[in-house]
Amino acid sequence: EALIQMEHIVKEYLLGGQVIRALNDVSLLVRHGEFVAIMGPSGSGKSTMMNMIGCLDVPTSGRYVLDGVEVSTLTEDEMAYVRNQKIGFIFQNFNLLPRMTALENVELPMLYMGIPARERRERALEALERVGLKDRIHNRPNELSGGQQQRVAIARAIVNRPSMILGDEPTGALDSKTTEDILALLHELHEQGNTIILVTHDAEVGAHAERVIHFRDGRVESDSLFAYEGES
Ligand code: ADP
Ligand code: ADP
Repeated sequence: EALIQMEHIVKEYLLGGQVIRALNDVSLLVRHGEFVAIMGPSGSGKSTMMNMIGCLDVPTSGRYVLDGVEVSTLTEDEMAYVRNQKIGFIFQNFNLLPRMTALENVELPMLYMGIPARERRERALEALERVGLKDRIHNRPNELSGGQQQRVAIARAIVNRPSMILGDEPTGALDSKTTEDILALLHELHEQGNTIILVTHDAEVGAHAERVIHFRDGRVESDSLFAYEGES
């Protein structure tokens, strides 16, 4: 069963009366449990692809089925629900709420899902333990290093048990040592069965992924999965 099934996705933007085709007939299949890096030069369509996969924007045409749900026909409210339920986001700048502690930040997505307080606390503690931050749960983001903040964000991303972790340049603000640590953590989560999709131009990230999809001019230029299948 596919997690992501995209068929002939086209995304166009209107800019000053001009049509810009950011995605040009993209078809893609991602299965549960994959670790995918989406790479490519600036302007190749990576961010647009991130917005499509993450149900943050709708395609101009084409079909997108996420975990059995046909996303391309949903209303905005329905999309927001699917997003909360199925996707754990991580970002370059962590996007943590500065006035909340690590624990409170991780509890937040469960608040939106209407999970009772006691269960929220238990699950947030468990998620923070999984990312190795059990001893920093009462710290606010500005009391944590970049790597620690990204760990909090990863805990927040996994706490609702999403169908995938979707990252937008998740190592972009980290030094190379911390990048290695975060990639090791993502690798561990992948081993435990999580699906991970990272949009990045960081070659270090690409080297850790199981599958690398290169975009160019709004199209899939290469997909290492095809290369792999071709060899067998
Ligand atoms: P990348 O993330 O690989 O840099 P993007 O998806 O941001 O690529 O951009 C793909 C193309 O779409 C580029 O030509 C970019 O200028 C254009 N584009 C992206 N977002 C918008 C937008 N909101 N309005 C107009 N053009 C856009
Ligand atoms: P990491 O393991 O994420 O690489 P560092 O070695 O960067 O952590 O940081 C070590 C300690 O210094 C951390 O436990 C953190 O509490 C503190 N620290 C690092 N950066 C900051 C910062 N910008 N603000 C406050 N504390 C920081």
